[in-house]
Amino acid sequence: MPEGDALHRAARRLQPLVGQRLEVESPNPRAQATGVAPRVDGRVLEAVEAVGKNLLLRFEGGLVVRSHLRMNGRWRIEPRGKARTGLPWLVLRGEAHEGVLWNGPVLTLETRNVDRLGQDVLAEEFDVDAAVARLRRVADRRLGEALQDQRLVAGIGNMWMAEALWSIRVSPWARVGDVDDGTLAKAVGAARGLMREALTTGRLGRQIYRRAGRPCLRCGTIVRSRGQGDANRTAYWCPGCQGGGGPPGE
Ligand SMILES: [Zn+2]
Repeated sequence: MPEGDALHRAARRLQPLVGQRLEVESPNPRAQATGVAPRVDGRVLEAVEAVGKNLLLRFEGGLVVRSHLRMNGRWRIEPRGKARTGLPWLVLRGEAHEGVLWNGPVLTLETRNVDRLGQDVLAEEFDVDAAVARLRRVADRRLGEALQDQRLVAGIGNMWMAEALWSIRVSPWARVGDVDDGTLAKAVGAARGLMREALTTGRLGRQIYRRAGRPCLRCGTIVRSRGQGDANRTAYWCPGCQGGGGPPGE
């Protein structure tokens, strides 16, 4: 599944197209139905950037195409005019290259900025205090769910949430309103640190994710898992060394 680092790589691949006036089309009928391609066809691509789980393509005139890759979406860069079979979602045709989006299930056009997204957890410049302030908006939510709310902080997926909270010994079931600012800052900082390290090394150092039923690598207690939040994503935690409580009713 594309996490934040996959989006950053896609943004880098598409950089050769920045500054060019592009021919844009949607061979895939489902993508055509979004109406995105004709709105940006013939415009200059001004920037491509990864923000959280979204790839943002900024075109002249303040038009922003937002591409969320979900499970299967892929951006590729290919030589202009390369023969292909299949129906890509979007083709961005420049002078020498084409950026091609395959299986991009979410493609939308935005005319305002995307301030409603939280800061990108992988960004070079990151304001931890601002991220903590956003998390404070959801005092009643569980920490594991809040860390994955893209409006609060963008880019933390389920795996990194689990790893970050295990690393700082806090349960994903802790209520945001019950933990102090320092703990929220450590949680976001841990996710950021682990994700940036993975981006640099290309390795995932899993300690807790998908280890339910096995002994905790730190204290030996059996790791648990349970669906959490509106999206029912599986949270993994160690009841022995992660403080802050368990699921509702326990
Ligand atoms: Zn443990």
